[in-house]
Amino acid sequence: MRKIAIYGKGGIGKSTTTQNTAAALAHFHGKKVFIHGCDPKADSTRLILGGKPQETLMDVLRTQGAEKVTNDKVIKAGYMNIHCVESGGPEPGVGCAGRGIITAIDLMEANGAYTPDLDFVFFDVLGDVVCGGFAMPIRDGKAQEVYIVASGEMMAIYAANNICKGLLKFAKQSGVRLGGVICNSRKVDREREFLEEFTASIGTQMIHFVPRDNVVQKAEFNKKTVTEYDDTENQALEYKELGRKIIENTNFVIPKPLTMDELESMVVKYGISD
Ligand code: ADP
Ligand code: MG
Repeated sequence: MRKIAIYGKGGIGKSTTTQNTAAALAHFHGKKVFIHGCDPKADSTRLILGGKPQETLMDVLRTQGAEKVTNDKVIKAGYMNIHCVESGGPEPGVGCAGRGIITAIDLMEANGAYTPDLDFVFFDVLGDVVCGGFAMPIRDGKAQEVYIVASGEMMAIYAANNICKGLLKFAKQSGVRLGGVICNSRKVDREREFLEEFTASIGTQMIHFVPRDNVVQKAEFNKKTVTEYDDTENQALEYKELGRKIIENTNFVIPKPLTMDELESMVVKYGISD
């Protein structure tokens, strides 16, 4: 079983990419997949389940207590039998969302939810800042592998570099490694080139360039991944290819994040703006 954490700036496409890749891994590659949503927004599994779950793990914990957080109650099976759980979060403005993630992962582990027959467990983590609880999946070795979703937009690259700083800090103690950066295209000029240079300079790879395609939104409107919506679509084949590259990946590194100056000059070189 490979436990993978997906990080990246908010809105960059983590949940979309995670679910579409999970669907492709299950449908095209015959893999058993589990998605653990770690964003308080609880929208990490909507496309797999055909809608948002009524109750998150934290909802059950808060209203009914820890003993009621059973696998039957909080894990839902969706498309291609992909298993899903949403951590959820505290009531808005009350408590620390990061702590909720720690609690949720601990409870799932204690329940034996990540069963050995699984090929992949994905943690879809909110990652603008690698702080406290949001670093949990990489800090305590909950996930051994990290992929960062980024685009050629400046803020996405800044976030990716910051996530690498967090990874660097925890890599020794937890053994976590960076498997690559997934470019989720925003159709920025020279995006591929920029991502190639950025990833090479931090010591990793751009594992795949995922095009921006309206069929993603069309499928999303139907509460589906592209693969479920129409597996002959080119975009479904892109996720299939990303899945294949993840299956075959052997490039795992401790990243070397750039200094602010290095990052600024790369940004200037590509003349990008946000
Ligand atoms: P995050 O989880 O990082 O906050 P989301 O996965 O929710 O971001 O993505 C935000 C929006 O971007 C989604 O509603 C989705 O429609 C859109 N999106 C993401 N990736 C693509 C893509 N490759 N092509 C078209 N739209 C995309
Ligand atoms: Mg998300």
